[in-house]
Amino acid sequence: MTAIRSYDAIVVGAGSVGAPAAMSMAEAGLKVLAVDRFPSVGQGSNKRAIGGLRATHSDPAKIRICLRSLEVFATWEELHGDKIEWNKGGYSYVAYRPEEERILKELLAVQKPCGLNIDWLEAGDLLEVIPDLAPDGLVGGTYSPDDGNASPLLAVHAFYRRARRLGAEFRFGEVVTGLIVEGAKVRGVRTDKGEYAAPIVVDAAGPWGAEVAAMAGIEVPVQPDSHEAAVTEAVARFLGPMVVDIRPVAGSANYYFYQHDTGQIIFCITPRPSIWGLDTRETSSFLPMVASRMVALIPRLRNLRVRRTWRGLYPMTPDGFPIVGWTRELEGFMLAVGMCGQGFMLGPGLGELMTRMALGQTSDGDRETLSYLSPYREFKGQEKLK
Ligand SMILES: Cc1cc2nc3c(=O)[nH]c(=O)nc-3n(C[C@H](O)[C@H](O)[C@H](O)COP(=O)(O)OP(=O)(O)OC[C@H]3O[C@@H](n4cnc5c(N)ncnc54)[C@H](O)[C@@H]3O)c2cc1C
Repeated sequence: MTAIRSYDAIVVGAGSVGAPAAMSMAEAGLKVLAVDRFPSVGQGSNKRAIGGLRATHSDPAKIRICLRSLEVFATWEELHGDKIEWNKGGYSYVAYRPEEERILKELLAVQKPCGLNIDWLEAGDLLEVIPDLAPDGLVGGTYSPDDGNASPLLAVHAFYRRARRLGAEFRFGEVVTGLIVEGAKVRGVRTDKGEYAAPIVVDAAGPWGAEVAAMAGIEVPVQPDSHEAAVTEAVARFLGPMVVDIRPVAGSANYYFYQHDTGQIIFCITPRPSIWGLDTRETSSFLPMVASRMVALIPRLRNLRVRRTWRGLYPMTPDGFPIVGWTRELEGFMLAVGMCGQGFMLGPGLGELMTRMALGQTSDGDRETLSYLSPYREFKGQEKLK
């Protein structure tokens, strides 16, 4: 009988969260294995993300984690050489009505003390940053110039390559089917191809996060809902920041778009009501709905041709915040699930935090951050910038 291979930590899922977490753990000297059912890295929700990277959130936990992620994305090419199409274009949440103006201004009181570089711009100043915005009725908007965007696939591959160089092992095309448990402690994972031992197992299974937690008999409120996105042909640069319009209308709660480093406009909506389930077939309703909203906001977009639409899954939680922490029921079992619409931007900062958790080296600040993301919170609040 062959002995089962042993690791310091096993990560279930090599996506937006699992890949940078494995990299960070390997960087800290841990012997780490990441297992993913898909044939290569980032093939779950990661590759469906449109690439937005912001620390502009409504709570200190995501702001802090994403400030660190932004540092990683912004310096990646310089430090590691891979091109990930990082573009520091900033983010702008625009307001055409007093309701949105009030929400966005109230959030500044949380955002600024957390160190976020963000300000409210009156309409005239905002039009200098985004000259093509429809001026009629524009009240103003927030502008956070240090936010940006990058390619989710190039980035996850860069994290994967570095993780491998640092000694992390990846097993693709392999499904985790169960956890190995001894008493109240996790001892490893069982897959459709074998067994692997580790005193730490991380659930980073994205939209399938609840399924993996259920293998430990733990109920986690993560439910996938689907969002559609599209990309246009490439044109000369004319748009700086990611533009987010949070006015809800029939069919969509908000929508957002930006111009990628390579010239394409990439855009997305948040459907209202939510579309629950695992269906990722494109619809015929998405494009007419979002295109009319975008063209009303920036009339200059009307001549752009759309090249492709796609649909992917947000791993949603009831309050819109991620679930990160050790489980009380099973020692050594860590949850890093429910990233909602922000797993790509949370990934690198969260991977470092997960590594400090694994090493037992969390700071007071980390513990405060984790208190917001606790699996055992009441899920009563509601994220304002989903
Ligand atoms: C249209 C759209 C636009 C988006 N735009 C953005 C954006 O601009 N910025 C942003 O930050 N986020 C964005 N997101 C959200 C982002 O894609 C997700 O939050 C993120 O990818 C979730 O990361 P994850 O690592 O939790 O999940 P994933 O990236 O899906 O990784 C989970 C992995 O776990 C694996 N897995 C699951 N179960 C098992 C098992 N039993 N055994 C083995 N492997 C398993 C899966 O194969 C998968 O690869 C967008 C999402 C969509 C759909």
